[in-house]
Amino acid sequence: MTKTTALLRTACYGAVILLLLLLCGPPALLAFHRPPPAPVQKSALTPAPDAKPTKPAKPATRAAADGFVPAPPGGPLYDTLTVNRRRASNLPTELPAAVPYYGERTVYLTFDDGPDPDVTPDVLRILRQAGVPATFFVVGLEAEKSPDLLRQIYRDGHAIGNHSYNHVYRDLYRSPAAYTAQLRRTDDILMKHLGVRPRISRAPGGSAGSFTDAYWSALATEGYRDIGWNVSAEDASRANGAEIAATVVRQMDDGKYLWSHAIVLMHDGRGHEETARALPAIIKYFKDRNFEFRVVNLETPPAW
Ligand SMILES: [Zn+2]
Repeated sequence: MTKTTALLRTACYGAVILLLLLLCGPPALLAFHRPPPAPVQKSALTPAPDAKPTKPAKPATRAAADGFVPAPPGGPLYDTLTVNRRRASNLPTELPAAVPYYGERTVYLTFDDGPDPDVTPDVLRILRQAGVPATFFVVGLEAEKSPDLLRQIYRDGHAIGNHSYNHVYRDLYRSPAAYTAQLRRTDDILMKHLGVRPRISRAPGGSAGSFTDAYWSALATEGYRDIGWNVSAEDASRANGAEIAATVVRQMDDGKYLWSHAIVLMHDGRGHEETARALPAIIKYFKDRNFEFRVVNLETPPAW
């Protein structure tokens, strides 16, 4: 009899604990979600509908347990909570460690400074036609001006990264707090239009020379991964499309050690029409050599 009572009591406790877990679960479960399927292969890239998007682009639908689960291999990673929300909910802000992905031939096409109404649509069209994914490090100020383009990037399955709010060096590099404040401001804009925010960022002008240890530690605390590059299209110059493509080809041919994780820096900001002109030849170079096109996520190895 006593044994039965004890058993019953244990079962009751178990049920209560299970109920509590179920009740407390949802906030943690909603913290991260898996974005649209990884656009690694041509067939996985969602063709963009012609119709104007409704907003936000596509709310988060699936979440992972325990606050964090990495995106599917090759897929972009987004967070449904801002840094401030995470803090308020006692959820971790730091990023977990991830195993770097070194393929035999892997390329990450990245575009900074957009979205821009003249350049980004061409870049998106070329990527769509080629069936390859890319990563866009957007400037908050530009995203505010072109929310439809921002949503288009997201819906096409590309990754979105944070490239500060105003891209003005003297503002950004005044202090680590000034820098992360700009990241948060851009996050809020992305959150408003997409319902999610990225966990990857790229320092305007590059982290080298601008970041002290204090910047790196502020980034780590707030949970952003800074993404560099190891191939530059050098498209900030007056080079034309053919020259830009040739620059990428030369660096790839000369740097076979980069083939496992080539991170190509390009720009889709204002005035970068020549980059869009160069893009088909750049994509062709990588396709002809059987490169895998991936978007930047936590598995992306350090550039150097
Ligand atoms: Zn930039």
